[in-house]
Amino acid sequence: MAEIYDLIVIGTGSVGSSTGYYAAKRGLRVLEIDSATPPHTNGSHHGETRMIRHAYGEGSSYVPLVLRAQELWNELKKDTQVDIFHQTGVLNIAPKQSSFLNNIITSAEKYELPIEVYDAFQARKKWPQFTIPDQFKAVLEKNSGYLKSELAIDTYVKEAKRLGAHEQFNTQVISVDNDENGSVHVTTNEGIFIGKSAVITVGTWVKDLIPNLPIQPVRKVVSWFEAPKQLAEETGFPAFTIQLGDGTQYYGFPANKGLIKIGRHQGGQYITKREERLDFNALKEDKTEISSLLNSVLKTVGNLDHGVACSYDLSPDEHFIIDDLPGKKNIQFVSGLSGHGFKFASVLGEILVAKALNETLDFDLSPFLLSRFNS
Ligand SMILES: Cc1cc2nc3c(=O)[nH]c(=O)nc-3n(C[C@H](O)[C@H](O)[C@H](O)COP(=O)(O)OP(=O)(O)OC[C@H]3O[C@@H](n4cnc5c(N)ncnc54)[C@H](O)[C@@H]3O)c2cc1C
Repeated sequence: MAEIYDLIVIGTGSVGSSTGYYAAKRGLRVLEIDSATPPHTNGSHHGETRMIRHAYGEGSSYVPLVLRAQELWNELKKDTQVDIFHQTGVLNIAPKQSSFLNNIITSAEKYELPIEVYDAFQARKKWPQFTIPDQFKAVLEKNSGYLKSELAIDTYVKEAKRLGAHEQFNTQVISVDNDENGSVHVTTNEGIFIGKSAVITVGTWVKDLIPNLPIQPVRKVVSWFEAPKQLAEETGFPAFTIQLGDGTQYYGFPANKGLIKIGRHQGGQYITKREERLDFNALKEDKTEISSLLNSVLKTVGNLDHGVACSYDLSPDEHFIIDDLPGKKNIQFVSGLSGHGFKFASVLGEILVAKALNETLDFDLSPFLLSRFNS
């Protein structure tokens, strides 16, 4: 007789490893499946760090989620003594009229989050590392910072295993469906696994399992540059987002070991197959995609050291999709994290487990339903 799991996690990356951990913590018989051994460089979670911002520029409906996410990251750090979160603060710099910046201010007002707002003159004085134009302003969020993404996943996987989670790594899931009794059958290249419920958290290539989702895989690159001391974390330099006058958004982290990591949120290459996610430097523009930033607001950065290629699972409105498969209440999925989902991995795992247990949620997930794309 095949073993029946309470919950099968399909894709044990950012959201999946958290789901496996919270399921194991709550005493569920959980199976974690992944096509590789997480953490790894095939998904969306490599490159060392991911930013966590609270007063959310993408919209205030994310704020309750991110505040709970932060509590859970703090708890994980405290319980495991692993250095997952660095509270460096996040400085957001943008033209005065930027809706991203103004959303940050609105989110902070609505949820009483502490922020500091600076005009260009004040910001230049406080952070001479940036060349901030007169028509810009800056908003500092001191309680935010960054997460060590691969370390966090490694911690979730190890802790889940310690708590009894079963692992089936280096295993490709081919299909997921209900049988005639409503149980979930997960078909893989290593055989079929059966669960009372399942979550699909496979990131970029979700359409292999849910073909009709409106998700566009995008190849993205991010680079590390030589950095002078005044950009280093130990000197108090914050993580940052910068929007230029043309609306393009960039992000970066305080330098560690003499290197600063910087990326551009927009752009990248739409891809349809895994092989199309070419390594860094395979395209000419990889090395130059943040030149506009380095020639204007952030001139204090040195030479390019190296870069990596990663990928986004872009939804049409760049907002998350958190839902059940249509007509299948015991198969949930999370998708469309659109390049800003890592910070939420902790709370999404907690939510998916609560939903699998049919518990009432403390969060309004209605903005994230798939049906918003129906009209
Ligand atoms: C360059 C870059 C910078 C980013 N910066 C930030 C940031 O600063 N802050 C932030 O919050 N977010 C950021 N993000 C976004 C964030 O990293 C992603 O939203 C998040 O990691 C996605 O998590 P996931 O669990 O959906 O995917 P992943 O972490 O990629 O996990 C998916 C897992 O599913 C597995 N899988 C896939 N298909 C199958 C299959 N068929 N069978 C079995 N297993 C399978 C994969 O191997 C993988 O382990 C960034 C992303 C990129 C690429």
